[in-house]
Amino acid sequence: MNHRDRDESSPLSPNDAFAILANETRFAIVQTLWELYDPNDPANVVKFSELYDGDNAVTFSELYERVGYGDTGNFSYHLEQLTDHFVRQTDTGYELTEAGFEIARAVVAGTVRERPRIDAAEIDATCPRCDAPVVVDYEDHHLSASCSQCPGIWQDSTGEDGVLFTFPFPPTGLSDRTPEDAFHATLAFNLNRIQSFITGICPDCSSEVVESIDVCETHEPGDRGGCPRCNRQHRIEVAEVCHQCKSVARGPLTIAILAHPAVAAFYHDHGIEHQFASWETFRRAQTVEEEILEEDPLRIALTIPCGDEELQLCLDDALDVVDVTRSTRGC
Ligand SMILES: [Zn+2]
Ligand SMILES: [Zn+2]
Ligand SMILES: [Zn+2]
Repeated sequence: MNHRDRDESSPLSPNDAFAILANETRFAIVQTLWELYDPNDPANVVKFSELYDGDNAVTFSELYERVGYGDTGNFSYHLEQLTDHFVRQTDTGYELTEAGFEIARAVVAGTVRERPRIDAAEIDATCPRCDAPVVVDYEDHHLSASCSQCPGIWQDSTGEDGVLFTFPFPPTGLSDRTPEDAFHATLAFNLNRIQSFITGICPDCSSEVVESIDVCETHEPGDRGGCPRCNRQHRIEVAEVCHQCKSVARGPLTIAILAHPAVAAFYHDHGIEHQFASWETFRRAQTVEEEILEEDPLRIALTIPCGDEELQLCLDDALDVVDVTRSTRGC
């Protein structure tokens, strides 16, 4: 039997989805099916290449026993409410649908469940501005890195307060990790997401991403503080927005450009394995120079130095690279 036939249920409105899940028993069913699911079970591995035959589903009696809910009639009613959208009934029992997995994962990732934190800790990484040790801190689902000596990369207009970065990071990411491991995992997790945005695919819902830039007209960053107009050190900010799920990524063009394949090739020729989703991207972004070559049509030049050479990428207003030149530095 082709299980896809069973998936062709009518679309669920957000109101109905919330109504279905806003019940303790139904929620416990989703959670129990997730707990009983073993991703290493051969029956589940087969699923990726073949249509699933449902022989690894949880039987009604096992599910009923695990959830431990009063009478079977009522339990069946709640299970039925979930079926088709969050739970799929197979020939042998019940299993989660993709939507069911998404709900379970959101809960497991800790967005709803807990509020762990780590105390500020110095790690073995150095500030791109002054080479002093980096300090990491975790609060409210965000990991921030700051410099133990200077105001870092992002300051307020007074130049007093600053950080190297603050990124969202799910609490589960802290499990079994030292502060230093959590720091690197946060960078990899978020820069991989940013790379997906740059590729034009929303990392949250796979929809199309709309890219735009904000160029500060009268950009004057101070030695210690950001520019009084835009509060940034960098002149050109890129915004990536998904209009389907409203997921957003914003950041300096000097970082985004480091995801370009010509940049990886340039570094590679200099004996450096450039990984975009790493802390080195932040350090290297500090060496990138941005320049507006022409206003109309807009042409932006980004120059990346390495050894005795520099790589210049010329971008148009759609942020497409229209020219790449390599030259000896100082020429
Ligand atoms: Zn510093
Ligand atoms: Zn500015
Ligand atoms: Zn999206």
